[in-house]
Amino acid sequence: MKLVFIGPPGIGKGTCAKALSQKYGIPHISTGDIFREEIAKGTELGLKVKQYVEKGLLVPDEIVIEVVKKVLQSPMCSKGFILDGFPRTLRQAEELEKIAKIDVAFLFNASVDVIIERVSGRLVCPKCGAIYNIKWRPPKKPGICDVCGTPLIRRKDDEPEVVRERYRIYEQTFAPIIEYYRRKGILVEVDAARDSSLIVADIERILAEKGLITKAL
Ligand SMILES: [Zn+2]
Repeated sequence: MKLVFIGPPGIGKGTCAKALSQKYGIPHISTGDIFREEIAKGTELGLKVKQYVEKGLLVPDEIVIEVVKKVLQSPMCSKGFILDGFPRTLRQAEELEKIAKIDVAFLFNASVDVIIERVSGRLVCPKCGAIYNIKWRPPKKPGICDVCGTPLIRRKDDEPEVVRERYRIYEQTFAPIIEYYRRKGILVEVDAARDSSLIVADIERILAEKGLITKAL
């Protein structure tokens, strides 16, 4: 089961990937997470990546491909994987195809307004990092962290203008990749403007239809 998840930031594809990863025992691979980890550990790769990240530049294709190749060829990916945040260039998509034959590329669709609504309710505690949502997980006392009593803030990344700009960049960046998988006939679009449990159920139904899982449990 070799899957690629494509979708704008804040759409909730990470949540779905985690749920499927746990249920089917295949790793959820986010290149962003790998880079953050390597930087934190101060590895050779981490130091290389850090130079780009600190300057706000994209990590070059060669480095990203090298990292993904290493991970996908490791024993933990013997049963498959879910790639999240990769590929993000056409070259990466083509190189990926040489490393592993992708079964399905799931495209998570939702309008920018749905995403804005979703992230605009998010509040974080600047002290302990607890995350709340005005709608789904409100703090007991409005605007105050349940854990440590610190006033909650909205991250700058979650401001509507920032979300809108990120969405615009996503559309530009991923258009060629979406087209690439569509032409290959393995692109499947999912309506992501719904609860993650419904999205996961949809994905399982499609995987079952393609014979990649025996049955949606
Ligand atoms: Zn707190």
